[in-house]
Amino acid sequence: RGGELRSDVYDINYYDDEDNEEETDLATNSLLNKLIRKSLVKSSYNVEVLQKDPTSPLYSVKSFEELRLQPKLLQGIYQMGFNRPSKIQEKALPMMLADPPQDLIAQSQSGTGKTAAFVLAMLSRVKADQTFPQCICLSPTYELSLQTGQVVEQMGQFCSNIKVAYAVRGNRPSKGSVIAAQIIIGTPGSMLDWCFKLQLIDMRKISVFVLDEADVMISTQGYADQSVRIKRNLPKFCQMLLFSATFEDSVWLFATRLIPDSNIIKLRKEELTLDNIRQFFDPCENKEQKYRALSNIYGIITIAQAIIFCQTRKIAKWLSQEMIKDGHRVALLSGELSIEQRAAVIQRFRDGKEKVLITTNVCARGIDVEQVSIVVNFDLPLNKDGDIDCETYLHRIGRTGRFGKKGLAVNLVEKHSLNLLYAIEKHFNIKIKQLNTDDIDEIE
Ligand code: ADP
Repeated sequence: RGGELRSDVYDINYYDDEDNEEETDLATNSLLNKLIRKSLVKSSYNVEVLQKDPTSPLYSVKSFEELRLQPKLLQGIYQMGFNRPSKIQEKALPMMLADPPQDLIAQSQSGTGKTAAFVLAMLSRVKADQTFPQCICLSPTYELSLQTGQVVEQMGQFCSNIKVAYAVRGNRPSKGSVIAAQIIIGTPGSMLDWCFKLQLIDMRKISVFVLDEADVMISTQGYADQSVRIKRNLPKFCQMLLFSATFEDSVWLFATRLIPDSNIIKLRKEELTLDNIRQFFDPCENKEQKYRALSNIYGIITIAQAIIFCQTRKIAKWLSQEMIKDGHRVALLSGELSIEQRAAVIQRFRDGKEKVLITTNVCARGIDVEQVSIVVNFDLPLNKDGDIDCETYLHRIGRTGRFGKKGLAVNLVEKHSLNLLYAIEKHFNIKIKQLNTDDIDEIE
C-alpha cells in the first residue's frame, strides 16, 4: 500500500524537486530566531543546576545589581532595556562571574538570554587596558558571529576601550599582524587559522573560551574537531563556557568531553501539545476546491490572524494571488527570500500589518506566532518519501501548554489522500472531525 500512496502523491505533484521547499538548516533557523526576537522567551520550567562544588555557596541573583558588575556594564544593560536577569541568567551569571572562574555547560531554548549572559561574562573578564586577545568565542556561522558581536558592542557601549574582532571567512589579516581587540568571535575553521597558521592570537593569554550553539556546531562537518583542537591549546586557568539550545545525547557527549567536571545548568524546553487545539478536516478534490473551502471558513467565522501552510512555493504563490484578489492582506514567506527578508515578513505579520501568512515549510519550525487564531494546512506536511510528517504537523499546529488559549486547525485534504490524515490521528491518538460549516458553534 505504501507504494500506491507514494505514486498518488507523485501524481499530484507534491514532490517536484525544483519546486519543493528546502528544509531550513539549524544555523539558518537560529539566525532567523535571533533576527525576529525582540524580547525574552519566558519559560515556566525550573532551572536545574548541577554544581561542580556543591559546598561553595553561589546564590542566584534576582537583580543585576547583586552581581556587582562594573558600573559601565550595568549602564549598558539598562540601556538595552533589561530590568532583571532571565531565569538562566539568574543561575548562570553568579557562576560565570565567580572568582576563581568556574566552567559552565548551559542548555536552554533559544531566546532565553544565553548570549546576553556569556557576553556579560566576557565583558566582565576582559582587561580593557591590555590590547591583545583575551576571549575566544566560537559560533557556527559568519552571520551568527556578527550577531553575537553586536551584542558585545551594545552591552559594552560604555566600555570605551574594549574592541571586538571577527575571525570569519573573508577577514584574513596578514600573518603575525598585531590584533588589539580583546574579544575574538568567529567560526572554528577561521579561528584555528588565526591561532596557528596566521599566529594572530597568543593562546596562552586567553582567559575565557565560549562555545556557542553547540547543537548547531556539531551538526557542521569538522567543527567539533576544530573546536576541540582550539580548546586543547588553551591554558589551565582559562574559563570554559558552552551553550546549547538543545541537549540530545550527541550534544551532551560532546559538551562533557570538551569540558569535563563542569557546572551544568539545564532549563527544559516547553513541550508542544495538541491538547488545546480543535482540529478539523475538509475533504477536497483539488486546489480550487480547497480554496473554496478556505473562503467558506472566512465567510462564517471571524479570523484575526491565520497561518496557511502549503507544500510547494508554486501553490503558496498561487494561493496568495487568489487571496489578494479577494481583498485579503497577505504575507508570503518562502525559501526564495533572504533570511533578512523572511525576518521582516514575520515581523510585519507579528505586528498585525498582514492578517494572513502563507508559507511553505521554511517557517514551520522554531518560530512561534502565538497570536494566530487559526492554522490551515492547505497541504498536509509530507517527508521526503511522501509519507506523513507527524513531527512537522505538531510544530505547525501545536502550542505550548502555558498559552491556555484554544487553537483551531483545519486540514484541507485531497479525498484520495485521506489515509495521511488517518495516520496523524493514529500517531497522536486523536480524532480529527470533518468540518461542517453548518456547525459554526463548534468551530468558533
Ligand atoms: P539566546 O542566546 O538564549 O537565544 P538572547 O541572549 O539572544 O537569547 O536573548 C533573547 C532576547 O532577549 C534578545 O533580544 C535579548 O536582547 C533579550 N534579553 C536577554 N536577556 C534579557 C533580560 N535579562 N531582560 C530583557 N531582555 C533580555
